[in-house]
Amino acid sequence: RKSCSAGRRLMTAPDVVSYWQNVFEKNGIPEARESSEYIVSFVLGAKTFQSLDSKKLCTPLTAVQQEQIQQLSCKRLERMPVQYVLGEWDFQDLNLKMRPPVFIPRPETEDLISLIVEEESRKCEAKNSALSVAVPSPVILEVGCGSGAIALSLLCKIPQSRVLAVDKEETAVDLTRENVHRLQLQDRIHILHHNVSYGSAKLLLPWGPMDFIVSNPPYVFHEDMASLDAEILRYEDLDALDGGDDGMRVIKIILTLAPSLLKDSGSVFLEVDPRHPDLVEDWLCAHPDLLLTLRAVHKDFCGKPRFLHIQKRSR
Ligand code: GLN
Repeated sequence: RKSCSAGRRLMTAPDVVSYWQNVFEKNGIPEARESSEYIVSFVLGAKTFQSLDSKKLCTPLTAVQQEQIQQLSCKRLERMPVQYVLGEWDFQDLNLKMRPPVFIPRPETEDLISLIVEEESRKCEAKNSALSVAVPSPVILEVGCGSGAIALSLLCKIPQSRVLAVDKEETAVDLTRENVHRLQLQDRIHILHHNVSYGSAKLLLPWGPMDFIVSNPPYVFHEDMASLDAEILRYEDLDALDGGDDGMRVIKIILTLAPSLLKDSGSVFLEVDPRHPDLVEDWLCAHPDLLLTLRAVHKDFCGKPRFLHIQKRSR
């Protein structure tokens, strides 16, 4: 059995962090130091270990605090992602509830939000200068909302936007709903338990055609699934990651349905694998009837092509 006890000495926060870091390292847990810091600061009610003040750093932890830290650390020892261990995580500046097996929002996806917000404000400026009238608030469809991270960030960043958020998993729909209430954004969002696929019932659009569709779909090539981290393989819903043989199973569904869901000149914003921009471009060329154009490919913070902006042409 793995050792799971820090003993009951008078330990300060830095002592406890080092103790669990050491246990994690001995047990081959990735990001041992970060994991330990996250758990200890969470129990002490701080966002980060660095933000603990000197008083908190010098005060011995109570038995109850040490017990809590031990319980959470034992979950991490089983390779549970720290986001699930804590039951919450920040995405952009939103604090969201996290719960297995709902997909944990990744840091690179924050750039998808910024990119859409930039594109939206560019559109507003163009329209405002041309027409000098207020631009109607955009309506957005999110396919595969998971914890609600993308939908909620867009609602916060794009004034008066409205989102239809759908997911095929009830666990995801429930978590999105909880996060919507946590942030009091229920007036601008519809959440639907719905599987977007070729044969599925037509999606009812509460506000008519969409200005844009956004998705971080499952896009991992099936053959790469087995080499994902144990954290993912053991705890996350693998349907949220497995994109089939070419990683494009859901991407193709979204693009096939997009023309019927979008307004003229509406856009699709997707997060994809770096191999996908070329594959998607070829696929769109082979499907000219969809009237979709790949407008832009944006890189993530590692410099990898990661985000696609696809636009509907008018007939
Ligand atoms: N980038 C993700 C990961 O490797 C994959 C996300 C996805 O398939 N949408 O964890």
